[in-house]
Amino acid sequence: MARNSKIEWTHHTFNPWWGCTKVSDACKHCYAEVWARRLGWNLWGPDSRHRFFTQAHWNNPINWNQEAAREGKRRRVFCASMADVFEDCRDLDPWRDRLWHLIGATPQLDWLLLTKRPERISDLAPWRENWPANVWLGTTAEDQYWAEVRIPHLIDHPAVVRFVSCEPLLGALDLGVWTRSGGLHWVIAGGESGPRARPMNPIWAQALRDQCARDGVAFHFKQWGHWCPAEQNRSGIRTVVLKDTHGNNLQLVAAGKKAAGRHLDGRCWDQFPRSP
Ligand code: SF4
Repeated sequence: MARNSKIEWTHHTFNPWWGCTKVSDACKHCYAEVWARRLGWNLWGPDSRHRFFTQAHWNNPINWNQEAAREGKRRRVFCASMADVFEDCRDLDPWRDRLWHLIGATPQLDWLLLTKRPERISDLAPWRENWPANVWLGTTAEDQYWAEVRIPHLIDHPAVVRFVSCEPLLGALDLGVWTRSGGLHWVIAGGESGPRARPMNPIWAQALRDQCARDGVAFHFKQWGHWCPAEQNRSGIRTVVLKDTHGNNLQLVAAGKKAAGRHLDGRCWDQFPRSP
């Protein structure tokens, strides 16, 4: 959809279609649904239709690929911000096929395929044991329950980079079994945005960072989201009090995504796995 995406961890964003159905707690305040509604599209839910795009839209990654080749650089493409590539809907199969061909035609781009349905990957992805070198495969784990449900499906696939997006981070997570074994190469963490956002306890993000540091896994702290620690920004009016690991009070303020920023313990965490 967008060129030069503002999401810090990607250069471009591409959507093969718009529309989806909610599958877990992380979807509760799905920004994509809200954004589509704002533009007049009602595309969410099992009985809703999807929005598809013209050839001009599908040409964008070809142009990004040519630019990257000219510059001698690799570029990351996030796919998809307004859909889930592995949604269980057979009407999407022709569009998925088109996406697989596009990925094959753009070797200068690293495609970040992020899904909340990793159990569907074996049935829907065409690559079996031979994944292309330009696909980074990821799943969302908002809490321990979903980590244990989804990550075993993710690590079944020999993608060159396997990653977990812990956003919105809604609970404490121990990823040790997968970070220690080499199952994961990259962990992204972040809090929820928007006025109804659920606060992220800082100790959950700190624990993920420490697990990654211990096991040599790249860690990217994407954002605090709507809530951040009070000592970091005092502009928020609403506050909430959580507990740290010792049972002490931790005050968070509703600062808003921009003001909350993305510093964790005084610095940005922008680690990336190595490109092939
Ligand atoms: S899977 Fe993603 S796009 Fe689909 S409802 Fe959940 S958050 Fe929204």
